[in-house]
Amino acid sequence: MPEPAPGCLLIRMQVSGICGTDKHTYQGFTAQYGGDGVPRTVPFPIIQGHENVGTIEAIGGDGRFTDFDGAPLNVGDRVIVGPNVSCGTCYYCRHDFPYYCCENTVDYGNNISAKDPPHLFGGWSQYLYVVPGSFVFRVPDELPSEVAVLTEIMAVTVGLDRAKQISAFPNESFRFDDSVVVLGVGPLGMCFVMKARMLGAGTIIAIDLSDFRLEFARKLGADHVINASRVSERDRVDHVRELTHGRGADVVVECAGVPSAVREGLDLLRLGGLLLEAGNFSDMGEISISPHRHLCAKNVRILGIGGEEPAAYGPSMRQMARYMRHYPLGDFVTHRFSLPQVEEAMKKSMEADSMKVIIDPWFESSSGFTNANRDNT
Ligand SMILES: [Zn+2]
Ligand SMILES: [Zn+2]
Repeated sequence: MPEPAPGCLLIRMQVSGICGTDKHTYQGFTAQYGGDGVPRTVPFPIIQGHENVGTIEAIGGDGRFTDFDGAPLNVGDRVIVGPNVSCGTCYYCRHDFPYYCCENTVDYGNNISAKDPPHLFGGWSQYLYVVPGSFVFRVPDELPSEVAVLTEIMAVTVGLDRAKQISAFPNESFRFDDSVVVLGVGPLGMCFVMKARMLGAGTIIAIDLSDFRLEFARKLGADHVINASRVSERDRVDHVRELTHGRGADVVVECAGVPSAVREGLDLLRLGGLLLEAGNFSDMGEISISPHRHLCAKNVRILGIGGEEPAAYGPSMRQMARYMRHYPLGDFVTHRFSLPQVEEAMKKSMEADSMKVIIDPWFESSSGFTNANRDNT
């Protein structure tokens, strides 16, 4: 058990999510690019886990530590630890770019080696060591930890807030009542479905390979769903056109996390539409597009979103707490696994009948639980 140094915290973990990035890492897609354009690789061995909810076990130094908004934190407070620590001094930090542009970012569960003491730099662990400069957010009392664990991915939907700002210019998406297609409704895509509705989307269309996920997307606000395992890509484009006055979608959010979905996203857009690319968090390879047909002739906008913004955490937590009345957010976590079951958990998170899968280091069970309400879907 490490003693936290000044400016550091020790967190007793409650739950930690399996994120799309974790799945990519597990599959061997470990290259991620930062602001310097150089791919970073993962310094194995690591402890994975960056969607972290826990309580403060100890505060280093004089016992003072403030949350992201400057309020004092105490031992016992339930918190989320922001997964990324930006350096604050590189060109991109100094010019207010998001953390994933930082040239020296430290990422829990991803780029801090567990070889280096005090070793505990990921959330799939009983304790997490919080390094100086980390952003820590107090979880509202009314928000269960099993919902708070969604905060990071919910914060990534800040991409739609950015799209909304772009719509201040004439004819630009994402305006009130605009149609939104979400390609891939795993946990991240699901959060985009919710956020699109919260921000005033019109018709929302979810596309996925899993009927289970598409049914859940309906509960979170999707008006139409298309199962891509039964409908060809050509027919998907035609169907989206039919549902959008023959024009194509005003906004497409790509969360499938496979390169080919980017081309499909461009095909699904109307002229002058906006593609929000949030799915390919790791380098998954390349695709070919027609620069004429997909870009110029389509007068298209592409907004690359490589992660969340720290200021999006508080709003995301408060809005999820508010929307628990309208959305079955308690059903979002479908499986909970203990630490020795982490590989089983990883496999489950990639199966069609799972949504958010979490690691609970204090959980004692021989099999991952399935949320009771899930059988009603
Ligand atoms: Zn994540
Ligand atoms: Zn930086």
